[in-house]
Formats: sequence, structure tokens, C-alpha cells
Amino acid sequence: MRIPIVGGNWKMNRGTPEQSKEMLKELIPLINHIINVEIVIAPPFTSLIGAYEILKGTNIKLSAQNMYFEEKGAFTGEISPNFLKEIGAEYVILGHSERRNIFNESDDLINKKLKKALNIGLKPIVCIGEHLEEREAGKTKEIIKYQMDRTFKDLKKDQIIQTVIAYEPIWAIGTGKTATPEQAEEIHVFIRGILSQKFDQETADLIRIQYGGSIKPDNAEDLFGKKNIDGGLVGGASLQANSLAHIIKAAEKTFN
Ligand code: PEP
Repeated sequence: MRIPIVGGNWKMNRGTPEQSKEMLKELIPLINHIINVEIVIAPPFTSLIGAYEILKGTNIKLSAQNMYFEEKGAFTGEISPNFLKEIGAEYVILGHSERRNIFNESDDLINKKLKKALNIGLKPIVCIGEHLEEREAGKTKEIIKYQMDRTFKDLKKDQIIQTVIAYEPIWAIGTGKTATPEQAEEIHVFIRGILSQKFDQETADLIRIQYGGSIKPDNAEDLFGKKNIDGGLVGGASLQANSLAHIIKAAEKTFN
């Protein structure tokens, strides 16, 4: 039994401390009765402390959008995982396609971050996904396998179980183009198959695989209704309390 997880990734789109507080105060009463969905919000770094104060004691957990793999030192502009833990972050998003493509993050770097997050007790949400050209060339599974081999290199069973995987086809992120539930499910089954080869079936069955890419209130239920889609990572539609609440309720509805 896998509890679905819905994450709101605000990126740099919303999230002055005031905006974050306002949005969270609106969201909390809409979803505070929900127990069968893990709910995670990832505001920008500068809003994490304020958001934590508001989220304390609620059913919403706090995530950072990124971190560095070192705990301390001369790394100007980077954020230590320890700092995140200390201010109440429970999750951290790693390897988002925007980090990979705009900031040139490699699978190897993401693997280092992932191991560090797990070591210090931050729960990682690790994104993988293919470009449009790769899908059109029939290379989606090859790319996913390549990313998984490197991103999850040397992970132990107890570590992968703590990890949430977000399958985010890059062509669907922020584009309004969503993968069909069937397209997404096919890749989720593939990912779970790789996990069962790398670890074992029992372990693979415990790992949550979110879908991400233009999830909206009107497509969430169909996506989450698929057996291997364990919730979603939501960008644009997480910026409004009502639409995010709707998506969270869709995850609750399809949980069984
Ligand atoms: C994301 O940024 O992870 C994402 C899925 O964005 P959007 O929902 O806007 O496509």
C-alpha cells in the first residue's frame, strides 16, 4: 500500500514570505481533513522559515526546491541540507528538469545530493524524464534507464525506500501538454520494473512514483487513477489554493 504524495513546487513563481503565508492560510482549511495523501509544499528558500511557522501542526509538510551536497564550506550561493533541516524542511526536490537543463546539473551531481539528503534525514523527491525529441525518437525508456542508473547509483534498499521518484516528461512541464494517463502509467510501470531489477519486487512496490507535467484539477483524477501513479508533483496549478486543493482531493479519491 503506497500513500499518494502530492507536492506543490512553486519554483520562483510565487513566494515572497507574505504571498506564501497568504496562500498557505487559504489552503490549510481546504485540505486539513485529508489523511490519505501526503501533502508537501516547496516554496522558495526565503519563505521556508515563515511557511514552517504556519504549517506546524498541520498535515502539510515543507520541502526545499534544491540543496547542495556539502554540509558546510566555501560554496557561495548554495544551501546546506543541514540549514534546511534545521528550519523544518522534511523534503527536498532534487534533479528537477529546470535544474538539469538550465543549471546543467548532471546525474552524478544529483546522485551526490541524493546520498547527502538521505544521510542527514531529508526525504528526497527525485525528478527524471525525457525531452520531446527523445520521446519522438522512441528513446524514452532508454533515457529513463540511463538517468536511473546514474542518479540512483550505489543506493541501498533502505535508502531507495525513503526516496520519492517524480516522472516528469520535460515536454509536459509548464507547457499545458499533459502525458495521457496511459503514457504516464507505461513509464511508471517501466520505472518500477527497473527498481525491482535493481533491488527486488517488494522494495519496488513500496516506492512512490509521482507524475509531473501540467497536472490540473481537470486531469488529476484520471492520472492518479492509474495503479502505478502515486500522486503528482505540481507546478503551475499549485500556485492557487483552490486548484491545488482540488488536485489533492483527486489523489485522496483515487487512493485505495
Ligand atoms: C514541475 O515543475 O515539476 C511541474 C510539473 O510543472 P507544471 O505542473 O507547471 O507542468
